[in-house]
Amino acid sequence: MTNPTLFCPACQSEYDPADGHFACPKAGDGREHILDARFDASPELAEELLESWRGYPDDPLRAFACLGAAQGVAGRPAYRDAAGRLQQGLARLEGAPLAVTPLTSTPKLARALGMSGTLAVKDETGQPGGSHKVRHLAGTMLYLEALRAGGPKRPLAISSCGNAALAAACVARAAGYSLTAFVPEDVHPVVLRLLRERGVNPQVVARLSTGGGDPCYLAFRDAVWRGAVPFCCSGRDNWSNIEGGQSLGYEAALQWLGMGGGPDHIVLQIGGGALARSVAGAWNNLDALGVVRDMPRIHACQTEGAFPFARAWLLLLAEIARNAGCAFPPASGYATLAGVRQVLSEEQDAIANVVEFARAAFRSSPVRDALRAAAASPERFMWSWDGAPPHSLAHGILDDETYDWYFLAQALLRTGGQAVVAPEALIAQAHELALTHTLVNVSATGSAGLAGLLALRQTGIVPDNARVGLFFTGLNR
Ligand SMILES: [Zn+2]
Repeated sequence: MTNPTLFCPACQSEYDPADGHFACPKAGDGREHILDARFDASPELAEELLESWRGYPDDPLRAFACLGAAQGVAGRPAYRDAAGRLQQGLARLEGAPLAVTPLTSTPKLARALGMSGTLAVKDETGQPGGSHKVRHLAGTMLYLEALRAGGPKRPLAISSCGNAALAAACVARAAGYSLTAFVPEDVHPVVLRLLRERGVNPQVVARLSTGGGDPCYLAFRDAVWRGAVPFCCSGRDNWSNIEGGQSLGYEAALQWLGMGGGPDHIVLQIGGGALARSVAGAWNNLDALGVVRDMPRIHACQTEGAFPFARAWLLLLAEIARNAGCAFPPASGYATLAGVRQVLSEEQDAIANVVEFARAAFRSSPVRDALRAAAASPERFMWSWDGAPPHSLAHGILDDETYDWYFLAQALLRTGGQAVVAPEALIAQAHELALTHTLVNVSATGSAGLAGLLALRQTGIVPDNARVGLFFTGLNR
């Protein structure tokens, strides 16, 4: 079997990436089937990674290839050729290849937040397509090319409200594939123009209600059912985008090491959850390899416009508390969305107790049993947004469902992180602070993690002297 292998927590099965599955073949029975790539950590692999990072300090597709399944399936020479072709295509058509991006210490921003510790921002706005999404889709493209091995190029499909569709269009055009993009009615007109310039005819899908899931996503699923490749940033549909996104986490962790040690906290904006799952997974892989010593606490930020992940995390904490016999607010407290917000803001002590229990006893049966229940009965924890139609200045993270919630929730539990629902005022304040105190022309979606940090500062979870990492992920248009 190829190393790494793919593991599904619902059916507890392992799959060979060479078999070409994008999603678990047993998906569809209501359990949380979601493939996760796992490799055997060894000192030799750690050494190979560090050597590769020194050898390719500018190219994420080469620097971390030894940890990925795409190279495992293709073999080194074919992988190297495919990565080179993709980078050349991006350079020729987008003006620049996918790049290793800067991690910059931001003392002015830290001072504005009253912080004495290091605050550093990873700036992804200069990537082709203006966001980190190109990493995810380049990862999938290299897996596709590994599977194709010279055969015909299959049609691709994606659903997205903006940046992911644009990144998909950049990567598809650079690699000579055709793409169908399903986008909502309120997609930014600039994105529509940029998609058309890249030969994509966007399919605009109307939203009539909430509760039934994102209509763009449903149209995309239909296209996949009819034979298109799920060229998307939802790990449930396409695990290989997570492998691509992990380069962002590998870079950040290694750049933090280069600054003299890792962060205590990282705060990530959450829409579909692929970004945060990727970054957390990468950090975890480096931890398993012994390359980093201490895992940062991984926090997730959503907006009050839509917060299905924060609800799922709270329900998971309640399950752990029940299993462990810890005090926790009764289920009636979080039966409604208003109740979820109230418990999150008013029951900080009870939440902190269970968070600390899960971190300290991550491998204990109360935590393991809760995660097993989440994989077996995900409908008890995660379901499509059923509140008012979602709106926010950070409109790129209003996903109806946090598709990658399962492994992300696991990362929060293991590291002692928290899920935050940022009020709209904090989203706006964070965007203003980012534009005033950094040189990054970031969108409100891309700076939403900073709103999470503001909220975590208010509750004292992130103290003044903490070392904190943020990811500014989307260009301001
Ligand atoms: Zn499965």
